[in-house]
Amino acid sequence: MYKIILIIIYNKFIRYLKVMMNKIEEKLLKNIDIKNQNDIPVAAAIIQEKTIFVSQNTQYKNKKINDHAEIIVINNMIAFLNTFNLSKCKLYITMEPCLMCVGAILNSKIREVYYYVENQKTGFLSNNPNFFSKNLKIKKINNDFSIQIKKLLKNYFSSIRK
Ligand SMILES: [Zn+2]
Repeated sequence: MYKIILIIIYNKFIRYLKVMMNKIEEKLLKNIDIKNQNDIPVAAAIIQEKTIFVSQNTQYKNKKINDHAEIIVINNMIAFLNTFNLSKCKLYITMEPCLMCVGAILNSKIREVYYYVENQKTGFLSNNPNFFSKNLKIKKINNDFSIQIKKLLKNYFSSIRK
């Protein structure tokens, strides 16, 4: 009996996680403005309980070196919570974060980071495969959304090369 109840609870939890993930992925996709040809189409979402901030890269659009999607949403959450301690927040990024963004992540004490597509060129983990921090978990998600994001980036890079 207990086993059955546990399985039901577990399945409900998994379903809840899936719904949550779909919502996050939907928001990430909505925030990618593919008409903005100047910036690499990358979006980030930061979440704490029911509060979520989503943004895309606006580095070239706003001519600000630190306007990566991750940094924008981290700053949004810092302003909202009125603290630099974001240890209870989760960060989702469509592409692997760069060195600058990992710096911001560590400084704001975020402990969980998820990304969908690797960035061989400037991705922090791709270039520092031995990086380890007991306070930071960075994980790549492999799902349909990862494939979708990969295609989107590929289209972007092939369109700007023309
Ligand atoms: Zn970055």
